[in-house]
Amino acid sequence: MKLSRPDLFRQAAYLAGTWVPAGTDGIDVLNPSTGARLGAVPKITASQTGQAIEQAQTAFHTFKRLTGKQRSAMLRRWYELMLQHAQDLATIMTAEQGKPLSEARAEIDYAAAYLEWFAEEAKRVYGDTILAPKASQRISVTKEAVGVCAAITPWNFPSAMVTRKIGPALAAGCTVVLKPAQQTPFSALALCVLAEEAGFPAGTISVLTGESASIGGELLANPSVRKLSFTGSTPVGKTLMAAAAGTVKKLSLELGGNAPFIVFEDADLDAAVAGAMLSKFRNAGQTCVCANRFLVHRDIHDAFVAKLAHAVAGMKMGDGFDPASQLGPLIDAKAIEKVSRLVDDAREAGAIVLQGGRHHQAGKHFYAPTVLTEVTSHMEISREEIFGPVVAVQRFSNEAEAVEIANATPYGLAAYFYTRDLNRTIRVSEALDFGIVGVNEGAVSTEVAPFGGVKESGFGKEGSKYGLEEYLEKKYVCVGNVA
Ligand code: NAP
Repeated sequence: MKLSRPDLFRQAAYLAGTWVPAGTDGIDVLNPSTGARLGAVPKITASQTGQAIEQAQTAFHTFKRLTGKQRSAMLRRWYELMLQHAQDLATIMTAEQGKPLSEARAEIDYAAAYLEWFAEEAKRVYGDTILAPKASQRISVTKEAVGVCAAITPWNFPSAMVTRKIGPALAAGCTVVLKPAQQTPFSALALCVLAEEAGFPAGTISVLTGESASIGGELLANPSVRKLSFTGSTPVGKTLMAAAAGTVKKLSLELGGNAPFIVFEDADLDAAVAGAMLSKFRNAGQTCVCANRFLVHRDIHDAFVAKLAHAVAGMKMGDGFDPASQLGPLIDAKAIEKVSRLVDDAREAGAIVLQGGRHHQAGKHFYAPTVLTEVTSHMEISREEIFGPVVAVQRFSNEAEAVEIANATPYGLAAYFYTRDLNRTIRVSEALDFGIVGVNEGAVSTEVAPFGGVKESGFGKEGSKYGLEEYLEKKYVCVGNVA
């Protein structure tokens, strides 16, 4: 890795202002493209996690008393530092996560935008006054920072998931202890170097690397942690939700998805193909809002599939540092096994492989971009989140059927559809049981809009004006006997 600021790459955890270096028993981090070892991070223990929480609690007492404008200035500075060092941050991300460098660079802009947004929102925390039922009373509602927050983030967006949680938490006046995924800790740690430079006091942020059992166990059990924000899989989210009940923590859960992508007979097919490519292949299909089930009206099925297969055939797969690469590797061997299993199962159950359907010669963790047709709702590939570069197409005959298939999942994160009919736009948007709906749009993530799901995709919103609310408690004050 060639970095203009080599000190952004830290083989250490960040415990309340102290860098704890990796010892001999650290966790190795590998480049998923090549398998090369990038370095190691320490295995932070439960007792060290307890120390970080204690120091976050101490820091909270002073940090929450700063003005919104003071916290805003620090967040703004952090945002500017991210942009200043964007190329280095993107390089670290591509090395540990595998996505093409241009995509990593775009994620840095997207991640920084959350800091910019919440720097602005930090100044806009409003309460209420309420007309009291008695003439001698005055009622007001104020909003206060929740307290020490735990954040647990996945490997697919190693920077954006961090700023999307830490940004609003700090804007509100909370302090944060974050555990990044074991595969991608270096991006979160590089952000900590810049947070220190931006002036965040010791204890306001900790990034603890290591095993989920020890760190997660303490984060969930410790009564000083008042909130957990988690992004990851639905099964892990359910476990954490149960564990949080012990100390009744506030929760935000951004869990898995199973997004339908519906192409109606009146759609602009070229726009639908462009949207499908964006929605499906970003991060090699490893995003929670990736189109998972393509539902295509029978009248335009063959035309849509032909155009899509043509676009997919032109994609270049390879190492993220090769400027020609449009698709990188999957994160690890487990991911390859899962995608292969889902494709093999679909093929055995009658799906037709138009493109791909196999490993790619670029390396051990590469799976060729794949197009399957004649998929049905009963196949595993329609029920599980694929998390890989596989388009699975099924046909439908009418709008009611498409909506019924789309909603027939326990998940409810993102859904997409393409149509040129205004009435259908409104009807179908309202009928879809999902937290996010893209109409004639395949890329829906932005810091200005509320991101989050319903049903087993979780609850709580990230980004937008609603994102800050997740880190604030409302306090009602009643003043009586006013003369
Ligand atoms: P994961 O296995 O659920 O892991 C996510 C994070 O949780 C990692 O930091 C992991 O740490 C940690 N973790 C796992 N078990 C834990 C436990 N028992 N206690 C505490 N922490 C624990 O998910 P993933 O495979 O990394 O990510 C892919 C999933 O995330 C997909 O399902 C995707 O849809 C979802 N996702 C959702 C969103 C959204 O906004 N809705 C965004 C991105 C991804 P270790 O690394 O130490 O295991």
